[in-house]
Amino acid sequence: MDSTFRFLYALSWVGLLSGLVVRFVTLPPKGWELLGYLAVVAVFAYAYAQGPRRAPRYLVHGAGLYFLLEIVRSLYRGVEGWQFLLLGPWIPALYVLAAFAHTVSAAWRYSLGWTLLLYGLVALGLAQREGSGILPYVAIALLGQLTVASLIILLARFREMYGQTRFWREQALTCTLTGLPNRRAFSLALTREISRAERYGTPFSLVLMDLDHFKKINDTLGHDHGDELLRRVARLLVDQVRREDVVARWGGEEFALLLPSTHLEDAKRLAERLRQVLEAQHWGVTASFGVAEYVLGEEEENLFRRADQALYRAKNAGRNRVEMAE
Ligand code: GH3
Ligand code: MG
Ligand code: MG
Repeated sequence: MDSTFRFLYALSWVGLLSGLVVRFVTLPPKGWELLGYLAVVAVFAYAYAQGPRRAPRYLVHGAGLYFLLEIVRSLYRGVEGWQFLLLGPWIPALYVLAAFAHTVSAAWRYSLGWTLLLYGLVALGLAQREGSGILPYVAIALLGQLTVASLIILLARFREMYGQTRFWREQALTCTLTGLPNRRAFSLALTREISRAERYGTPFSLVLMDLDHFKKINDTLGHDHGDELLRRVARLLVDQVRREDVVARWGGEEFALLLPSTHLEDAKRLAERLRQVLEAQHWGVTASFGVAEYVLGEEEENLFRRADQALYRAKNAGRNRVEMAE
């Protein structure tokens, strides 16, 4: 929970309770009304105890009960009709609570149920006092409330869908072991970078990195140790590069780096630094690197093939070294 959220959450409780207190003072409850207040406070206290995530589920009914109490006792005491107007703006709070705490169908059930009950009572009370001429106004107000409820429930649904889409998109583009972008994400970033290069003529380079004799590490120290090593290498790489560089897990023990605005010589220097830093960790693992700079007009596959060939040469020349593509 961030501080803005905590502040807003506290604010809504303060607002809710001060509403209760104001009404308590301006129209002090008597007899059975006092019991009503106690019941409302009990539901509120229960909701509060459930914590911010679950509180709205109970608050829907706590607030509904409270509005009901106020309407009934206002009717009972014969308060001025205009006082019912004060209730109107508060009722949407019920829809918001219901929409964000429940499924769409339950949210609709609760919103519709409470609204019909509350407006029905207001209509009955007012019609009794002021004649049936008031009923069309109550009907219009009811229609307005249902429109507000629909909008709020739709909004909640959209927000939920958006959250889900984002979640799945992130899952689809992230490597679960290291948290780095995966091969697909890297491909997308590369396609974008190529179109940028083609359009503005900005250079960029690609670095492929493959850990040396990683199979041996797995075989001697265990797969879990291998996994932990991959995680550490991933963190190390991210720490060592610029923010706009993309570090991805390209394959099993292979990483790929996309370096925007970087020429071959600078990319090679970076790769050399990464090689040294990794070696200096004394984690018992080294890496070989293939570096290539994008040549305007070339295909993505070609860029990869050149970087891969350079990596192959680094491996053949004895590993733990950097080679540049021709
Ligand atoms: P080279 O220096 O030629 O690259 O030797 P190598 O053993 O690293 O190369 P090879 O491609 O033959 O083997 C890669 C190994 O990486 C095989 C596999 O056991 C290991 N590996 C791949 N993915 C993972 C992973 O997610 N976790 C762990 N622990 N090991 C992995
Ligand atoms: Mg490999
Ligand atoms: Mg390897």
